[in-house]
Amino acid sequence: MSLRSAITRIRSIPELQKKYNIFITLDRDAEQKLQDKEQKDQLLSYLVAGIKDNIVTKDMRTTCGSEILNDYVSPYDATCIKMLRDSGSIIIGKTNMDEFGMGSGGLHSYFKPVINPLFDDQKKVAGGSSSGSAAAVAAGAVDFALGTDTGGSVRLPAAYTSILGFKPSYGRISRHGVIAYAQSLDCVGILAKEYYILKKVFSVLDKHDDKDPTSLSKELREKASQRTKKNKTFRIGIPQEFIQNSIPSEMRTTYLNFVEKLMSKGHEVFPVTIPSAKDSLPIYYTLTPAEAASNLSRYDGIRYGERDEKRDIQDGTLFAPTRSKFGTEVQNRIILGNYNLCSAAFKDHYVKAQKLRVKLINDFDAVFRLPNLLFGSKGNENGVDFILSLTATNYPPTIDSFHKADLVSPTNEYLNDVFTMPMSLAGLPTLSLPPLKNVPIGVQLTGQYADDISVIDFCSSLE
Ligand code: GLN
Repeated sequence: MSLRSAITRIRSIPELQKKYNIFITLDRDAEQKLQDKEQKDQLLSYLVAGIKDNIVTKDMRTTCGSEILNDYVSPYDATCIKMLRDSGSIIIGKTNMDEFGMGSGGLHSYFKPVINPLFDDQKKVAGGSSSGSAAAVAAGAVDFALGTDTGGSVRLPAAYTSILGFKPSYGRISRHGVIAYAQSLDCVGILAKEYYILKKVFSVLDKHDDKDPTSLSKELREKASQRTKKNKTFRIGIPQEFIQNSIPSEMRTTYLNFVEKLMSKGHEVFPVTIPSAKDSLPIYYTLTPAEAASNLSRYDGIRYGERDEKRDIQDGTLFAPTRSKFGTEVQNRIILGNYNLCSAAFKDHYVKAQKLRVKLINDFDAVFRLPNLLFGSKGNENGVDFILSLTATNYPPTIDSFHKADLVSPTNEYLNDVFTMPMSLAGLPTLSLPPLKNVPIGVQLTGQYADDISVIDFCSSLE
């Protein structure tokens, strides 16, 4: 990377922005800042980055794709932003996203949908909720982008735009300054086209942060690095729960060819079972709206958001004028979340979902060879090193058809994440990669908790 390549990228952005609606806010002075900057040789020097607009930056507004934060500028940089800047990266803009990370097609943005750069002739979705981050990388506007993944929001857009999308283990990258959607699942993830860039960025961000109470401790990081695998061949499990008849046949063929490629490289492939994976969708849509409802209560026009000039009450509802600035999907989730937390439903919904989440984690632990560093499982000596599945159940739909399906029922959209949610609920490191160049299909490889480096190294060895 050089000053010239960075400037070329920056100059390409206005045209790409017009075509794909990638960014919500751009740093118009980026080129000047780059020219003025004293050039030191740092790990991320000249790497141009796009940042999902739910990660706070002090020099650009952070909207979360929402009208309610339209003018919000943070007084500080998120830890991950500070780390990127300190390593020489140039942050060019804040990328478009589904409002507060809720969505899988990028259609729930106050700033209009992102258009998938892989399809110039048709308006297709780029996936969500990190839609702009994926499109920025796919279109070549940036060298890498940060997204967030709560239930699949880095991996699904990566698959739809045929790039790499890495969701690290929960707690590996600091969440300090990441606006919470569902904090027990939220992870910062990295999108890039090249492994060497993804690895560099992860090495910069993969640090303990005292400001994030859920950041993985230094001791556990040390233990995790001691068990990073140096094998040449691995055992890979394919969970039967991730095989569906509805998968389009060319997608199935690409997937099977990928499995064959693994075997031809000497890896062993086994069928495995994660019985609770089938419960992931209801667990996810019970827990995340509950966490979201609680997190979003701060947008009351007093702490965050703008207070209506004339009134706080509309039709007897306090804060209704302010909170109508949330889009429909966010409002739906607040209602659902508060319902799941109310005394009538708490035990049967929220508590039950928490118990099922533990069962799901135990199911994953039962198939991995490595013990779970956090929960102290035994490890299965006949188990596998990685789990393989498709990332998405289908190809990216057109914006039109996605919108229509959403109008019929929001659950149609929820179904897009069935293959990505289980790993999010279990906090596992997972990388989605495109088995074929420029084809919107992703396969994802998952490792045991904290085995992030092994996952990245293994995936990059397959190139
Ligand atoms: N599509 C899922 C949702 O709407 C996942 C989103 C995410 O990972 N941020 O909750």
